[in-house]
Amino acid sequence: MSTVILVTGGTGLVGKAIEYVIENEPAGSRFGKRPNEKWIFASSSEADLRDPAQTRKLYEKYQPTHVIHLAALVGGLFKNMKYKLTFLRENILINDNVLHASYEHKTQKLVSCLSTCVFPDKVEYPLTELNIHNGPPHESNFGYAHAKRMVDVQNHAYKEEFGCNFTSAIPTNVFGPHDNYDLEDSHVIPGLIHKCYLAKKNKTPFVVSGTGKPLRQFIYSRDLAKLFIWQLREYDDVEPVILSGRFGEDEEVSIKEVADAIVKAVGFQGSYTFDTSRADGQYRKPASNKKLLSLIGDFKFTPFEEALNESVQWFLENYNNARI
Ligand code: NDP
Repeated sequence: MSTVILVTGGTGLVGKAIEYVIENEPAGSRFGKRPNEKWIFASSSEADLRDPAQTRKLYEKYQPTHVIHLAALVGGLFKNMKYKLTFLRENILINDNVLHASYEHKTQKLVSCLSTCVFPDKVEYPLTELNIHNGPPHESNFGYAHAKRMVDVQNHAYKEEFGCNFTSAIPTNVFGPHDNYDLEDSHVIPGLIHKCYLAKKNKTPFVVSGTGKPLRQFIYSRDLAKLFIWQLREYDDVEPVILSGRFGEDEEVSIKEVADAIVKAVGFQGSYTFDTSRADGQYRKPASNKKLLSLIGDFKFTPFEEALNESVQWFLENYNNARI
């Protein structure tokens, strides 16, 4: 019997990385395409998943046996703060439609994507899978965060009432080819890559906001893609798994290390400074990837500089059709 794997949000940063891995890893290997597998990467133009009828139609068309659910209304801090209700409502609609269609179509396995912003604002660090619901999320993006949290609640309810094999992943900050490089509304790595590129092109200084000291966790999209494939094929439990990168011995990288690597990858030789008058945000908010590492066995994360180089090269080669 054939396996049909539907990836919702298949045209975004993470979806494109899964497509890359499936096409480029050796066929039949741990992360490569297997015989009788058909992978579908759906975009919003094929089905607007806020709409139950369009969602149902997508499932009727492909009859997926497995689903990786990535589709979401995603945005940077500014958009999240300004459009809390829109982020809450649209993501609730998308998630409810996908989860219910997966139940109705007897999907054998569904892995949905959460985010570390689901965690409580006031919480003990490192974050672990056990403390998602132990307090309200940060108020800046509570709409997005609550919609994502609810997926974990729904997964448990679908399992208890109907025995569904639904689970979720909690990635830290993702970066890689096909990222959103918009200067106003992007995450830290793509935003800095774009800024550094412009500084080189216009022969202007490259100024990084803040002191550069805060520590953050990142995961390269193509490593994350492998972890999603692992979770889909090898992990059968409703409880979520935090998916975070590991670069050598380090789980965290400072913003200065990020900026240094970008300067090197872009080949920027002009003036490079930190604007310490700008707010730094929280010093660190580590999430533990102990559960992942204890389960996955042998897994090689791409070294940070190599991952960053690949992302910068992709940006340079695709500047004209990237999201900028
Ligand atoms: P992108 O913005 O790159 O991609 C979003 C995807 O969702 C696109 O394929 C888009 O389709 C699709 N989509 C959006 N709205 C709808 C809709 N109404 N109906 C159908 N499809 C829709 O996001 P990422 O790849 O970065 O994110 C993927 C997942 O990872 C999301 O669930 C996000 O919350 C999560 N995540 C991301 C992190 C990050 O750092 N980027 C960190 C942690 C979690 P189209 O392009 O056709 O509009």
